[in-house]
Amino acid sequence: MHDSHIHISMSPLKENIETDIQEFIDSNGKKILVQTTDLTDYQDTLEMYFSLQNKFPNITDFALGIHPSRFEDGLAKNSLDGLDLFKYAQKQFDIFEEIFIKNIQYITAIGECGLDYYGMYEYNQFTEKQREELKEVQRRIFTKLCILAIKHDLPMSIHARGVNGDSSCVKDTLSIIAKEGKGTLRGSFHSYTGDKKMLQKILDLGMYVGFNAIITYPSGENVRDILKATPLDRVLFETDGPFLPTQSVRKKKNSEKKYGRPLLIKEIIEKASELIHEPYEKVEEVSDINYLTIFSKRDM
Ligand SMILES: [Zn+2]
Repeated sequence: MHDSHIHISMSPLKENIETDIQEFIDSNGKKILVQTTDLTDYQDTLEMYFSLQNKFPNITDFALGIHPSRFEDGLAKNSLDGLDLFKYAQKQFDIFEEIFIKNIQYITAIGECGLDYYGMYEYNQFTEKQREELKEVQRRIFTKLCILAIKHDLPMSIHARGVNGDSSCVKDTLSIIAKEGKGTLRGSFHSYTGDKKMLQKILDLGMYVGFNAIITYPSGENVRDILKATPLDRVLFETDGPFLPTQSVRKKKNSEKKYGRPLLIKEIIEKASELIHEPYEKVEEVSDINYLTIFSKRDM
């Protein structure tokens, strides 16, 4: 089994990562792909990645990216360093690119990245003009990341989340991938919770889909439907830890570990195998092959 999307520098994963990886390996865990979201988390995650490589060789893969919500965070916290949003985003990208080039030999994927039109509507803190600017900035940065992925032949871990009932976010993500990727861009739509009608377009572009503990939640009906409609040879599993603990962990009253961690992939695969009526071993094996197919290291 593998965990194709996890944030190891976030608490409480950060403090428990070695025991959490050991228990994962003890249950046939093979790979985790650690994601990064912004400049502050690159250094922490890289340091952890190097130490994990020493302790558990070839378990951890590393993804470097810019999470689309970073720009609204900058705007909301008034921390744009006196720059306008577009210049701020460009500066973030320049620093990203510098770290990317410096560490290119360790990088398995670009992630996480993509578009998020959901968060900016959550609290009524932005004007309509600011929202439009945020969307435009996200599209520009995602475009640059796609170009970089093509140039270096790297897969992408893609986040695409829109406001419920509005598929413009996924549509914009797909049109950037189609335009910049020209059919060769590899990637996974992580935690896809969108419109089932858009799923076929995601698959048509050759993309994979990442499923997490949402399929174990009573409220996860939409995502269970998406899983059933996704061919097994395009399915990946992920925890998105430390977020999204599985339903059994959420329900436990006195559990010490109430966060998403790699071992919980087991419960996610169990649920998936029940939903698609395939044996656990087959779901585990095929999804592991999928992981290695999309996230294999390019030839150096
Ligand atoms: Zn994530």
